[in-house]
Amino acid sequence: MTDTSAFDGLRSRLRGQLIEPDDADYEAARKVFNAMIDRYPRAIARCVDVADVMVAVDFPRERRLMLAVRCGGHNGGGLSTCDNGLVIDLSRMKGIRADPQTRTVHAQGGCTWGDIDHATHAFGLACPSGIISITGVGGLTLGGGIGHLSRRCGLTIDNLLGADLVLADGSFVSVGPQAHPDLYWAIRGGGGNFGVVTSFEFRLLPVDEVIAGPTVWPYERAAEVLRWYRDFIANAPRELNGFFTFLKIPPIPLFPDALHETIMCGVVWRWSGPADSADEVFAPVRAFGPPAHHAVGAMPYPALQSFFDPLYCTGHQWYWRADFIDGLSDAAIEQHVAHGRVPTALSTMHLYPIDGAVHDTGCHDTAFSYRTSKWAEVIVGVDPDPDKKTLITDWTRRYHDAMHGYGAGGTYVNFMMDEGQERVQATYRDNYARLAEVKRRYDPENLFHVNQNIRPTE
Ligand SMILES: Cc1cc2nc3c(=O)[nH]c(=O)nc-3n(C[C@H](O)[C@H](O)[C@H](O)COP(=O)(O)OP(=O)(O)OC[C@H]3O[C@@H](n4cnc5c(N)ncnc54)[C@H](O)[C@@H]3O)c2cc1C
Repeated sequence: MTDTSAFDGLRSRLRGQLIEPDDADYEAARKVFNAMIDRYPRAIARCVDVADVMVAVDFPRERRLMLAVRCGGHNGGGLSTCDNGLVIDLSRMKGIRADPQTRTVHAQGGCTWGDIDHATHAFGLACPSGIISITGVGGLTLGGGIGHLSRRCGLTIDNLLGADLVLADGSFVSVGPQAHPDLYWAIRGGGGNFGVVTSFEFRLLPVDEVIAGPTVWPYERAAEVLRWYRDFIANAPRELNGFFTFLKIPPIPLFPDALHETIMCGVVWRWSGPADSADEVFAPVRAFGPPAHHAVGAMPYPALQSFFDPLYCTGHQWYWRADFIDGLSDAAIEQHVAHGRVPTALSTMHLYPIDGAVHDTGCHDTAFSYRTSKWAEVIVGVDPDPDKKTLITDWTRRYHDAMHGYGAGGTYVNFMMDEGQERVQATYRDNYARLAEVKRRYDPENLFHVNQNIRPTE
């Protein structure tokens, strides 16, 4: 047991804050996005700079305390907190420098994607990320990064030019193609296993205004819509992204009143090619069915990125299961339709395309192995009411059990709960041994193990 005076010592060495259980803000500070995760760390170190992070890494290592690292706190499995250990909370490290000349951005390890979008949109530039602006840059990037721009620009890691890390021994390194290339390879998909990333450098792309929004069809037509979508997106230009979804239509003005609260299927689109081609690109979409509603229009890229923020906010019960998918057979579609009726208003199933530019990088070029799959499928049970925990968990598990046999074997680390070592290894396939070797070199004692853990080679 580490005594109180040791924590007093830690507090005195931090420029940021050390929050302990008796402090007024402890209750708020210990919470993460998923309300089903209820952990009580011994202390939370809210770091403000790299020096703070170095001190905060040394402290648990020297005392054999558990260590968790938090950026946006969005991890579904709650992998940015722990019981009785120390949490390094990076949420105050939000420095950003976007450079329109080099088309790059440096962002500190506590930024959310909304922070980056705000800074880069001023120059008509964007970095490929996910589909929600309050997700942390840290967790999303280190696991891969799948989102609206993946088909056109690749995963987030495909645009990661370098990073600064505090390693398990407390030392500081900058990594990139020429500096610690093994570590640079490993952090592109290997999660938070190798150190605390205090700063990321990303390539930016010219993405300013996009044409985006949902098209929805009645659930009764889900099988034919899925078959049509499968073939349509496979042949669509890279400038078009569209992820398929089962959803309950939210009661918002975007949808006609008659559709509110009905369960439907749909596709959320993003076109970032020439605006005057959009009509032609969306002509087959408007024609298929026809849809119950087609709500696609021009919007600034950050508006698309924050489109779902009001729905998926902090404090809901959240349970998800996922798989990579190589192909959507008619048999798989049948199972989707059999299980896809969502049990609560916010529960959903998404099929994110990971073809196009994602396939320009090879399976061994970064730690992210599944470069040959076509979709990342995720089934998510969500509800604000704690009494619905069992309902959403059971639905997700049943649905996933029915679909898993149609998957490619592994899943996206950022869509995992606590699913065991076998599942982690299945996700990295033959990259796992190399990751374990990099882990041995940089974190032999496995200090950073509150994550989808890569165990150091013995
Ligand atoms: C509502 C919602 C929407 C999502 N949408 C998408 C999406 O569109 N695309 C997508 O790819 N993913 C998406 N995700 C998944 C998301 O990528 C993961 O949940 C990710 O772990 C969140 O990152 P975070 O920084 O917010 O998480 P945290 O919970 O803070 O951290 C997650 C993990 O990353 C580690 N970590 C975080 N930052 C650092 C750092 N700076 N250095 C070292 N380790 C670090 C943590 O230790 C932990 O193990 C979504 C999640 C939610 C809840």
